Amino acid sequence: MTLEDPYGRVHRDLRISLTDHCNLRCTYCMPAEGVPWLPRQTLLSPEELMRIVRVGLAEGITEVRLTGGEPLLRPDVVEIVARIAALSLPTGGHPEVSITTNGIGLSKIAGALKDAGLTRVNVSLDTLDAERFHQLTRRNRLTDVLAGIEAAREVGFAPIKVNAVPMREVNFDELADLLDWCLERDLELRFIEQMPLDAGHIWSRRTMVTQAEVIEQLSARHRLTALPGRGAAPAERFLVDDGPGVVGIIAAVTAPFCGACDRLRLTADGQLRSCLFARGESDLRGPLRDGASDEQLGQIFHECLAGKLPGHGINDPGFLQPDRPMSAIGG
Ligand code: SAM
Ligand code: SF4
Repeated sequence: MTLEDPYGRVHRDLRISLTDHCNLRCTYCMPAEGVPWLPRQTLLSPEELMRIVRVGLAEGITEVRLTGGEPLLRPDVVEIVARIAALSLPTGGHPEVSITTNGIGLSKIAGALKDAGLTRVNVSLDTLDAERFHQLTRRNRLTDVLAGIEAAREVGFAPIKVNAVPMREVNFDELADLLDWCLERDLELRFIEQMPLDAGHIWSRRTMVTQAEVIEQLSARHRLTALPGRGAAPAERFLVDDGPGVVGIIAAVTAPFCGACDRLRLTADGQLRSCLFARGESDLRGPLRDGASDEQLGQIFHECLAGKLPGHGINDPGFLQPDRPMSAIGG
């Protein structure tokens, strides 16, 4: 089975939001007071989640990324990783299971996640300055994040990717320092252009930092050479000086990569989304709770993809931000 959309894009990557809750309040994602949380009774149980993942694998998914909100807030995150990693693909082998986390709490469970079969870890870190971190995330937790990254290195995750959102009045003067810090630790840094997905609607095209500006900042210190062979990956990767270090830039706004998109998203309340920016969702939770068969649930994956648009439309004059904020979609 393949999950192909009307534009010929084959979907293999399912991003699952394990929770919409978070222990940080990054300004580009959530307002200080948080967002209205999803009602408890709408959240998928672990069994419901596993059923949807099994159906997704039968339809053509081969990679699962756990995200949120903050996925490590789920007390059963290690068990979920182990259960997904143990599933079989119709073509043989097992799905790849990865996680995107803010790193808080990772120091305690990095080893258990590795043993459970987690293949890759992305940790988000926008600044190395404790005061800036506090202002940006509204929590004084930089030390916990750094300990999480260190633990992930110690247990042998490789490569560990670090996600950073460049922001003009926050970390713009620190982009090359972040790169050097990552290079020294064999971490692969990826800058993500800020997208209009925050619940507070603070995004502005005028103030967002572009890929071109990131390259200019980094080039003052390093020689960057674009690497070929990007495939469906969102990041354009550059060799730093003569390598082996690499830096990536995800230019979702100024150089959209929608033509090669292979991603679907499942929210914590069981809604399937064909795009971060989709205005509509396909309900899996309702039919699942009403007794739908695997075949019927699989059909919903295809219906969702039938409505996938060719691009996210951020640059269209009539663009409307999705109703759900990033934290409730799963970044
Ligand atoms: N809490 C986890 C974390 O921060 O890694 C996982 C969820 S978070 C929504 C996933 C990624 O989305 C993070 O790397 C974060 O920096 C990024 N992100 C959140 N809001 C964003 C925005 N408005 N534009 C670009 N990236 C954003
Ligand atoms: Fe939480 Fe991640 Fe959003 Fe920051 S970006 S508020 S860590 S979900």
